[in-house]
Amino acid sequence: MPDLAALRERMVEEQLRGRGIADRRLLDAFRAVPRELFVPEAERDFAYADGPLPIAAGQTISQPYIVALMIEAARVRPGARVLEIGAGSGYAAAVLSRIADQVVAVERHAELAAAARERLAALGYGNVRVVAADGSAGLPDEGPFEAILAAASGRHVPQALVDQLAVGGILVMPLGEPDTVQTLVKVTRTSETDTEREDLGPVRFVPLIGEEGWREPAGADPLPALIAAAAEPLPDLASAAFGAVFDRFGDARVVLLGEASHGTSEFYRARAAITRRLIEEHGFSIVAVEADWPDAATIDRYVRHRARREGEDAAFERFPTWMWRNEEVDAFIRWLRRRNEGRAYEAMAGFYGLDLYNLGGSIRAVLDFLAEADPEAAKLAKRRYACLAPWSRDPAAYGRLAISEGYGRCEAGAVQMLKALLDRRMDCLGEECDEWLDAAANARLIANAERYYRVMYEGAAESWNLRDTHMFETLCQILDAKGPGAKAVVWAHNSHVGNARFTEMGEVREEVNIGQLAKQKFGEQARLIGFGTHTGTVAAADDWDEPMAVKQVRPSLPDSYERMCHDAGVPRFLLDLRQERIPAELEQALMRPRLERFIGVIYRPETERWSHYAEATLPRQFDAWVWFDETEAVRPLAGEQRPGDDATYPFGL
Ligand code: SAH
Repeated sequence: MPDLAALRERMVEEQLRGRGIADRRLLDAFRAVPRELFVPEAERDFAYADGPLPIAAGQTISQPYIVALMIEAARVRPGARVLEIGAGSGYAAAVLSRIADQVVAVERHAELAAAARERLAALGYGNVRVVAADGSAGLPDEGPFEAILAAASGRHVPQALVDQLAVGGILVMPLGEPDTVQTLVKVTRTSETDTEREDLGPVRFVPLIGEEGWREPAGADPLPALIAAAAEPLPDLASAAFGAVFDRFGDARVVLLGEASHGTSEFYRARAAITRRLIEEHGFSIVAVEADWPDAATIDRYVRHRARREGEDAAFERFPTWMWRNEEVDAFIRWLRRRNEGRAYEAMAGFYGLDLYNLGGSIRAVLDFLAEADPEAAKLAKRRYACLAPWSRDPAAYGRLAISEGYGRCEAGAVQMLKALLDRRMDCLGEECDEWLDAAANARLIANAERYYRVMYEGAAESWNLRDTHMFETLCQILDAKGPGAKAVVWAHNSHVGNARFTEMGEVREEVNIGQLAKQKFGEQARLIGFGTHTGTVAAADDWDEPMAVKQVRPSLPDSYERMCHDAGVPRFLLDLRQERIPAELEQALMRPRLERFIGVIYRPETERWSHYAEATLPRQFDAWVWFDETEAVRPLAGEQRPGDDATYPFGL
C-alpha cells in the first residue's frame, strides 16, 4: 500500500504548485481532501496520479490540476455560494467546500449522485448538497451564485447560467463537442446586463448532456447485452459442476487453456478444474505447461511416482517463482499424484514443461542421464557442453557475445549432442522411455536455447517465434512418444494460446504461437480457450528479476473486450465462440477488432495501455472465452527452503 498522505502532498507540490497554482487556501483545500476515497477501489493506488480516472457510469474524475485551475479561475473565496454542474465522484465539490461557504453540486446520474452524497457525508462535509438532476440550465431556484463550475463540456454558454450568477460572479465551463479538444471559457458577469468572456485554453471533458447541453448519445454499444444473452454462467470454482461445463471439448486431441496474467488465482484454479475433468472423463494424459522442461520433469517424477534423480534441484527456483510455486499449482499436482497412485504406469497422467529458459538445468539433466545410461557418451557430452556451461546462469550474456563475434561458437556442440541422442534413441519400455524422452527434450532445449539467446538480439519477433515453435514441437514430441491416442492439455498465457494470426502479434509483427501452430496441425482437434478479467489483484513484478508484489489490476479500458464483458454484468461465464454455437449477431459484433489485456509476470499499471493492451479479434483468436469479472492474486508458497524434506517435495520449500 503506498503512503497516500505523502502522495497527496507530492501531488500538491508537483502538479499544482509546480504548475503555478499559488493560492494558499486552494492548496490547503487539496491537502485536506482524501482523493483516494473518491475513486473506485481498484484505482486507489493511482488516486494521486496526474490525470483523470474512470469512475462508475462511464464517467471520469477530473485531473487534480484541472480542478485547481477552474477553482482558481472562478476566484472562489470564503463566504461564497458555489454551483458545480457534474458532481461525478463529488471530489471537486469536496475541494470547493473546503474554501466556500456553501456548495450545491448537480449530477445527472442518480447512482453517482447517491455515491457522492454518501462520501461527502462520511467525511463530515456538511456544507455540500448533491442534487440528482439535469444541471445544464443550472438550478434557477437556487441562485444567485458567486461562482458556477461545469465539469462537463457544453454546446454553448446557457443564458440561464449567466442569469444565476451574482453580479461580479464567474462561470467557468468547457465548450465543445464530445471526444474532441474543447475550450475552457471563463464568463464574468460585470453588471446586470454585461458579461466578459475569456478563453483559458484547450481541455478534454465528458459531454454535458441535457436540455442546454448535448443529446444523449445514440444507442449505446449493443455488445454487452449480446454477451449477456449468450454467456453461460459458470458454477462455483470449487464445485464439480465447473469442469463438466467443458465436457464439450473432451473429444479434442489438444485443449489449450490460456490466462490473461501469470498471477491470477482464478485462472489457475479454473484450469485445474477443467484439466481434472479432461483427465478423469475424457482420456487426457498429458499436462504440458509454459514452464521449463527440467523443472516440470521434477514435478512429473513426483506425480507419476517415479524415482527422484540424485542431486536434482528443487523445481522452479528461478524468477518468476510464483508462476508455478503457488498454492493453486501445489493443490493440482498433489491431486494428480493421488489420481495416478496404483494405476499402471502407462495409464498415469504426466506433467511436462514446454519452455526453454532453464539452460543450466537441462545441461545437468542430460549429463546425469548419460552418466548412468552410457558413461562414455557422458564424457563426450561434457566436452560438447563445456562451451555453453559457463553461461548457464546468464545465457543472455552469451547471446550478446555471440552477436558481437558474429557467430554462435557453442552452436555446433549443442546440435551434435541433440543429433547423437536422437540417433541413439532405441526401443524402450515404460518408464525407461520417459528417461529417453527427457534426455532428448533437454538436448533439444539446449540447442534451441543456444539459438534463442543469440536471436534475442536480432529482434523480438525472431526469438518469440523460435520459442513458440520450440514449445509446440515439444508438445508434438510428447504426443508422439505417447502414441496415436494421446491427448494433451496445455496451460500457457493467452498470448501463446490464442491464435496469433488474429491478433496484433501476428498481423503486425508476424509472430506465431502455440495456438496457431496447433490449429494448423490439428484443426478442430485443437481447442483454444482464453481467459479474461476486469479488475482485482494480480501477483506480478515491476520488472524482470524484481520481487513479486500483489498489485491492483486497473479496471479494463472502455471499448476493450474486457469492458464489454464487464458491462454484460455476469460475474463468471463461458462464451462458446465456435461458429456452430455462437449467435450470428454476437459474432458479428465481436468481429470488430478491439483491445484485449495481456499481463505477464510484469505488470506496469502506469503505462497500462501501451504495456498491456493489444488488438485482437476474439471469435477467431479463441474457441471459447472464460470470464471472471473480479479476480485475485495467486498465492505463492511461503516458507523456508528445506531440501530433502519429503513432505515439501517437489518444490523443496
Ligand atoms: N467534478 C467531477 C467530475 C465528473 S465528470 C469529479 O470531481 O468527480 C462530469 C460529470 O458530469 C459526469 O459525472 C456526468 O454524468 C455529469 N453530467 C453530464 N451532464 C450533466 C448534466 N446535464 N447535469 C448534471 N451532470 C451532468
